[in-house]
Amino acid sequence: MRYISTRGTAPVLSFEDTMLTGLARDGGLYVPETIPTLTTDQIAAMSGQSYEEIAFTVMRPFIGDTFTDDEFRELIAKAYATFGHDARAPLVQLAPNHFLLELFHGPTLAFKDFAMQLIGQMFQKALGRKGARVTIVGATSGDTGSAAIEAFRGLDNVDVFILYPHGRVSEVQRRQMTTPVESNVHALAVDGDFDDCQARLKDMFNDFEFRDGVKLAGVNSINWGRVLAQVVYYFSSAVSLGAPARDVSFTVPTGNFGDIFAGYIAKRMGLPIKDLVVATNQNDILDRCLKGQGYHKGSVHPSISPSMDIQVSSNFERALFDAYGRDGNAVAQLMAELGQGGFDVSQGAMQVLQDTYKSGRASEAETSATITSALKRTGELLCPHSAIGVKVADELREQATPMITLATAHPAKFPDAVEAATGLRPALPARMADLFDRPERLTRVANDLSALKAHILEALET
Ligand SMILES: *Cc1c(COP(=O)(O)O)cnc(C)c1O
Repeated sequence: MRYISTRGTAPVLSFEDTMLTGLARDGGLYVPETIPTLTTDQIAAMSGQSYEEIAFTVMRPFIGDTFTDDEFRELIAKAYATFGHDARAPLVQLAPNHFLLELFHGPTLAFKDFAMQLIGQMFQKALGRKGARVTIVGATSGDTGSAAIEAFRGLDNVDVFILYPHGRVSEVQRRQMTTPVESNVHALAVDGDFDDCQARLKDMFNDFEFRDGVKLAGVNSINWGRVLAQVVYYFSSAVSLGAPARDVSFTVPTGNFGDIFAGYIAKRMGLPIKDLVVATNQNDILDRCLKGQGYHKGSVHPSISPSMDIQVSSNFERALFDAYGRDGNAVAQLMAELGQGGFDVSQGAMQVLQDTYKSGRASEAETSATITSALKRTGELLCPHSAIGVKVADELREQATPMITLATAHPAKFPDAVEAATGLRPALPARMADLFDRPERLTRVANDLSALKAHILEALET
């Protein structure tokens, strides 16, 4: 299996190098040259299997000879052993034919753990046998950073630096990043918003001297390994509702477009998915774009669903690449226009996007109201991100097809918003009950490339 860049000019890489690299050297994102498919029989055989067995079947065709079958099985087993639920990704029912896929039973209580725990295992294995060391730098709106730190803390071959927007993450998110004591963990509070953090990260990748000097590796959702790990739960949940014998639909609370893109990959692999619904908060550039209004950046408006507070949605580039018939030049052109503020999507590409994705948005008031009504009608406490999914799913779902809405975080990760909507303050699971007692360690850094580079170089030397 070979991987190519969405901008067409970076070297073609193996799975291992794609995973260890992150962003392509032409500024693009890596995608598989072809999407492997599973037969109906292979999908049907997943019925009743463990999450780990399904994960092996779904991901194996993508990894080439990076790991042997036995090695890969062992990495998967270790990755998900840290989860607090035997099903890993359990489904609960909300209403007739509407289901909630709980993706928050990992160690940092958000779906990011599904990919990050596995990436941690894969990095350790691949780097260990090469005797190589890398510097992981990630940008986060809260959940990626905590999941990455949890996955890489204390590992021998890795230093991990996480850029998060100062004052714009929840206290639980911040503490998950600032309380680990391991010396290879570095939490950097940047004076800016998430898009600034993400832009500085891209700057570092495009600074080849720095990039090669520190052996920079990326674990943001632009990393193909992240997307791949997320394809698995589309299969496990759909099969438990009767796929491949019947269609299912999914609604996905979306920010950087990684999670919903994993659903698209599942569909391309042969999973009978009818609708893939993108749900955004008030930062609704994706919803506007999918409704034909072009892709034009505004400014970020902080919301009660901070993990979706974003204007530049990195993985959307992968969707555009396919919508433009895999024309890397066309994508490079669009991304150059985006640097100037935005672009319009061609009619042909728009048709492809609209055939593939539906979309909706939820305002702040609608998000709160959905948290309140879900508790009353189902007994479920939803986090604000998951509530956006439920609201949009209820608007767009058809009674004939089961709808699975992805619950992307545990309500205790966003207790203020949940308490404001319901009067109930969700408790942290017992295994992290002392989070608020642990000392914090972080560095404030200006939203400035040279300041960030200087800090990272200095920290690596000590
Ligand atoms: C990251 C995140 C999202 C958005 O996922 P993308 O893959 O970036 O679209 C939604 N909800 C929560 C809780 C998250 O942490």
